[in-house]
Amino acid sequence: MVERAERTPARPDAVIGVDLGIKALAVFSDGRPPSANPRHHDIARRKLARMSRAVSRKQGPNRRIGRAPSNRWRRANDRRNRVHHRVGNQRRDAIHKLTIDLARVYGTIVIEDLHVAGVLGSRRLARAVADAGFAEIRRQLTYKTAWNGGTLQVADRWFPSTKMCSRCQAVKPRLPLRVRTFCCEYCGLTLDRDVNAALNLAALVDRHVAGSGPETGNGRGADRKTAPGAAGGHEASTPHRAISAGSDGDLHLVSGGSRRVIITPLNGEAEHIGHQVDSGATQSA
Ligand SMILES: [Zn+2]
Repeated sequence: MVERAERTPARPDAVIGVDLGIKALAVFSDGRPPSANPRHHDIARRKLARMSRAVSRKQGPNRRIGRAPSNRWRRANDRRNRVHHRVGNQRRDAIHKLTIDLARVYGTIVIEDLHVAGVLGSRRLARAVADAGFAEIRRQLTYKTAWNGGTLQVADRWFPSTKMCSRCQAVKPRLPLRVRTFCCEYCGLTLDRDVNAALNLAALVDRHVAGSGPETGNGRGADRKTAPGAAGGHEASTPHRAISAGSDGDLHLVSGGSRRVIITPLNGEAEHIGHQVDSGATQSA
């Protein structure tokens, strides 16, 4: 917070796609080993449940009849609360470490929209916990990339990062959560589901930038820091289907922080993406 002047990520031109998840906290597009979700979380949750049962077996406070809790209850309750706080701390540490590492190194970080992650998650507690974590990760990435001179890009919530093949962009109608490996029927790509999603997120920026102006000559090394924000975007209407290509082959990207949807023509890539989207995805333009 002291010096926010002129900081630069270690690799300003590097783009990383980050797939947030429950099993692994984050899976990356560039071969970086996944960031483990604190394993102690599961273990600790079981432990917490056990301790809570221990608490409830003891004589607790009862306001209705004005009964004070027993000393055994107080002790058990304190023990339970300590574990509770420790779990929270461990998770907070893991998230901070992840976001600091990313923001220090990469010029552009791409994550998926929170709601996509939410929809894919299970209905159970894990989901609520993970959702809270995702929101926090996004919040931290937003301000940490700003501090470090990088950019956070958030993929449009309809971008099918998990269902799309990262090699040929064919989109599967569905991919149940239990299927951990992405197998493409069109090009034969076989890849870890989360790595595939991370690659799609990273590629989103590459394509976006490639089509956004005279810098294209640089190819993958184009200046990504300015391109997405500078692209003369207008408010996008909501896409009706889970597609990345809009009615005129546009790519939708929501930039970090703001909710503005930026549209940039994809040039040569437009039809490439459009025709692979499932046939029912006709546009209502
Ligand atoms: Zn494919």
